Amino acid sequence: MQSSHTGQHPDISTSSDVLVVGGGIIGLVTAWRAAQRGLRTAVADPEPGGGAAQVAAGMLAAVTELHYGEETLLGLNLASAERYPAFVAELEAVSGRDTGYRACGTLAVALDADDRAHLRELHGFQQRSGLSSEWLSGRECRRLEPMLAPGVRGGLRVDGDHQIDPRRLAAALVTACERAGVIFHRSFASRLTVVRDRASGVVLADGRALSADQTVLAGGSLSGRLAGLPTDVVPPVRPVKGQVLRLSVPGPYAPFLSRSVRAVVRGSHVYLVPRENGELVVGATSEEQGWDTTVTAGGVYELLRDAHELVPGITELPFTEARAGLRPASPDNAPLLGPSALPGLHLATGHYRNGVLLTPVTGDAMADVLTTGELPEVARPFTPRRFSPAPVRQEQPA
Ligand SMILES: Cc1cc2nc3c(=O)[nH]c(=O)nc-3n(C[C@H](O)[C@H](O)[C@H](O)COP(=O)(O)OP(=O)(O)OC[C@H]3O[C@@H](n4cnc5c(N)ncnc54)[C@H](O)[C@@H]3O)c2cc1C
Repeated sequence: MQSSHTGQHPDISTSSDVLVVGGGIIGLVTAWRAAQRGLRTAVADPEPGGGAAQVAAGMLAAVTELHYGEETLLGLNLASAERYPAFVAELEAVSGRDTGYRACGTLAVALDADDRAHLRELHGFQQRSGLSSEWLSGRECRRLEPMLAPGVRGGLRVDGDHQIDPRRLAAALVTACERAGVIFHRSFASRLTVVRDRASGVVLADGRALSADQTVLAGGSLSGRLAGLPTDVVPPVRPVKGQVLRLSVPGPYAPFLSRSVRAVVRGSHVYLVPRENGELVVGATSEEQGWDTTVTAGGVYELLRDAHELVPGITELPFTEARAGLRPASPDNAPLLGPSALPGLHLATGHYRNGVLLTPVTGDAMADVLTTGELPEVARPFTPRRFSPAPVRQEQPA
């Protein structure tokens, strides 16, 4: 295995077994797991550890985010949630960094009769799907979380939906990659190189050419924009903007909230995620605005208005940050994992609103496919080929 490099270096190797384009949490976990399996691995990204994880709330919400029509995705979400404790323990031990993982559970509440009916229906769907959640009256919800508005009409207690701090997760993954010998090329990949109908690496924006036996495209919402991708291989991934606020709960008082709390207010989802260090994350808008990441007065207003309806006391808290990020969304809201129709090119993208939750299972699935050529059972339904019926190209002989 090669020694670790953290910055640009003139003698940095330009060839590897695996080259990951994009160093968000998905690219990083792929690189870390691939390097652990003995593959010489490199990542190209101007700012590894950046991306949507700098904005995301970090809810690990397999059960509370159950949606009709997403039963297949539920299997992957649950598989990843199950891996989380061991994944975090290993990552923290290897990196020496805390990830802010908190096994605190989630409470989804209803503010009016319509919300209550909707939550009741979700509860039934969860039960039919074999998931664990408990119906609570409004009073029981407030006993659990005394800061909730008096008008809360009922709720679902889900003790298995936890949280992690995605910024710390990303930082820990960068360190774990460095320690596993992953080479970082801190530059944008401007073009995929294809030789005889096989992906063979990329050309970087700074002009350097990188070669690799296998290239993994993990560019988040930018994945479809890499030049040089054959048209039928371009992943159908689009950006869905989310604005998020951060408040802080001054310590060392009694906790403001002890678990994540969420609701649907006037049709918009709002959640409050309390971190152990006093940070309170309030999210999130969902907007189809292309690659725009402007924080708008309307976005901030709506989030504060809805969160205030849920937990009136938030208006007393110091306001520390407002930021927007882009969820990489696919046509069926599920990720694209594994070989594309172009030999030598894999995809690990389209994780949409569950990318933090799906980090452990994605790392394992990508390491499997990179070492054996086969996706594990749990990841097979998420092959990119479900969107490209075109036959897989045959490589041209050298
Ligand atoms: C507001 C919001 C709230 C969220 N909340 C949650 C949540 O509570 N729970 C949850 O599980 N998920 C959540 N998510 C989703 C989660 O953050 C994403 O699914 C996940 O971060 C996607 O990671 P990624 O690595 O695929 O993409 P990204 O984070 O977008 O990273 C892609 C990286 O690739 C780089 N890149 C792109 N193209 C190139 C190129 N050509 N060359 C080099 N580098 C390139 C980019 O610079 C970037 O660093 C949320 C997202 C948002 C925006």
